Amino acid sequence: MSTVGILGGGQLARMLILAGAPLGLRFVVFDTVADACSGALAPLTVGHYADDDALAAFADGVDVATFDFENVPAQAAQTLTAHTFVAPNPRALAVAQDRLSEKSLFRELGIPVPPFAAIDTQAQLQAAVAELGTPCILKTRRLGYDGKGQFRIKTPADVDAAWVALGAQADTVGLILEGFVAFQRELSVVAVRGRDGEFRAWPLTRNWHVDGVLSASLAPAQVDAAMQATALSHARKLAEALDYVGVFALELFDRDGVLLANEMAPRVHNSGHWTIEGSETSQFENHLRAVVGLPLGSTAMRGHACMLNWLGDMPDAAAALAVEGMHWHDYGKQSRAGRKVGHATLRVDSSAALADALRQAGEALGRQAQVAPVIAVL
Ligand code: AMP
Repeated sequence: MSTVGILGGGQLARMLILAGAPLGLRFVVFDTVADACSGALAPLTVGHYADDDALAAFADGVDVATFDFENVPAQAAQTLTAHTFVAPNPRALAVAQDRLSEKSLFRELGIPVPPFAAIDTQAQLQAAVAELGTPCILKTRRLGYDGKGQFRIKTPADVDAAWVALGAQADTVGLILEGFVAFQRELSVVAVRGRDGEFRAWPLTRNWHVDGVLSASLAPAQVDAAMQATALSHARKLAEALDYVGVFALELFDRDGVLLANEMAPRVHNSGHWTIEGSETSQFENHLRAVVGLPLGSTAMRGHACMLNWLGDMPDAAAALAVEGMHWHDYGKQSRAGRKVGHATLRVDSSAALADALRQAGEALGRQAQVAPVIAVL
């Protein structure tokens, strides 16, 4: 029986643990806080990622180490590799942690990207805004997530305000300026690569964000075979270039039928939560199969699925579960404004039935605004 060590103990670790139990896997979790929500399901070590001794002790007790959190310092990932098999590998982690490295790699691999420029000084920002045009977005290169560490520059007059907001971080996490993509929709491809190089991907997912945070995901996204094939080819190239093992997500903008890569997440991803009920093998199970070296499972869909994120506090479970096709995931977290505390997945047999179920759920939970954009495309 293998023991899997997970760095980061949030809901992604929790869902990995739930998926790994039937495979006979054991888990231990490392996090910086004592109330990490996966601590309810597996032994939790509380420590700092900069503490090499704590990491070494953790790694000595596991057969393989993986992550629910990509912002583990590269040094910590390196420390782990001296003690155990680590997947994904530290280079993949390092590339995905840095918006400049990942966009440069996408471009090198022939994956289209929005125009971008590295920014170290206010003068460079001024020049880059003039070159890329407005609107554009100034982002931190590292440690940004869910739309945090971003400033939208609507006109050249916003440059000073953008520098006031983020300039101090130019020397720490670095900055990148990106052209604003007037996309019609946001898509993601969640994919998995095994230790033996086998590659699989789930059908493309369409995502809706509110204030930079995922609100709803629909699978399958309504895309033609050519777009699905293009997304898969991008994901495969990326996985092979990074010698990636495990699940990752590639976030894409669809602008007039062209897919532009926004970012990759080197881990199981919120836009793949629907795979728990909506696919033959969930992203969590396939990630574990990959990292422990088991054959990968089918990524075929089972019906139509929509995932709804619950932020801040959980809606009423009883009202939700009265809706046919509703599956409930309460992460067992304390309520806090904006915090991801749970999600639900509606899984039914047709897109018409999905629209019905979403209407019912929206009404039962007072979440009509959240389900409306999804219903509008069904
Ligand atoms: P990110 O943290 O890069 O995933 O950005 C969060 C959200 O901001 C994305 O899901 C998009 O909705 C939006 N966004 C980020 N970058 C761009 C861009 N270059 N053009 C247009 N919208 C963007």
